Amino acid sequence: MKVLVPVKRVLDYNVKARVKPDQSGVDLSNVKMSMNPFDEIAVEEAVRLQEAGTATETIVVSIGPAKAQETIRTGLAMGMDRGVHVQTDEDLEPLAIAKILKAVAEAEGADLIVMGKQAIDNDYGATGGMLAALLGWPIGSAANSIALDGGALSVVKEVDGGLQTVKLQMPALVTADLRLNEPRYASLPNIMKAKRKPIDAKTPADFGVDTTPRLKTLKVTEPAAREAGIKVEDAAALVDKLKNEAGVI
Ligand code: AMP
Repeated sequence: MKVLVPVKRVLDYNVKARVKPDQSGVDLSNVKMSMNPFDEIAVEEAVRLQEAGTATETIVVSIGPAKAQETIRTGLAMGMDRGVHVQTDEDLEPLAIAKILKAVAEAEGADLIVMGKQAIDNDYGATGGMLAALLGWPIGSAANSIALDGGALSVVKEVDGGLQTVKLQMPALVTADLRLNEPRYASLPNIMKAKRKPIDAKTPADFGVDTTPRLKTLKVTEPAAREAGIKVEDAAALVDKLKNEAGVI
């Protein structure tokens, strides 16, 4: 079974996003970038399938600028076999990403795609669903655990009321939720080994994908700053303020 894991290079989750002065987007110059946290979980799941002897090959793919290769190397250092880098300096929308990933999945003959449920930079949470639809594959979204069950894949999903178990016929797509697993740190020997693992270089044009944007960003603004709190003397003063000043009770 061949497993494909799409990973996105995003602003590190510990870094506070700064909006560009012209409000055209988030300033990504000289800030730490990392693999999207949900994608790290997807990589970990693929490596575990490989270690269990279920996956025969694990491929990590990223669409993005030259530096996306570093993110692919992180996946290789965690244990993935090889990489595919689709180079573009454009910030592509989910549909364009999904079309490219479909072409990669078909070219590679993937049987299973494990990916993040959302990218933490744009919070679209859209690519997995679009990709499954384009491929005509079943999707297990927001997976909490997965297990191979004969020729099918059993996926426990996180839903509002609790957990829902679904069975998917292969080939299939799974999007990872936070509790699917705890991703490993790459060891130094594995980081060294990853430098020798192959990465295929591609462009969106190699797959004949039209990446013309459909959305136009009008402006990006920072969230309103929180106002400082105040101290009240007693419960009666609190009730008075909530009632007469805040108007919430
Ligand atoms: P999104 O729909 O943008 O929230 O992203 C959902 C998932 O799609 C991510 O967790 C990744 O697994 C995948 N993805 C999104 N953008 C890219 C990209 N540029 N390259 C590879 N995978 C991506």
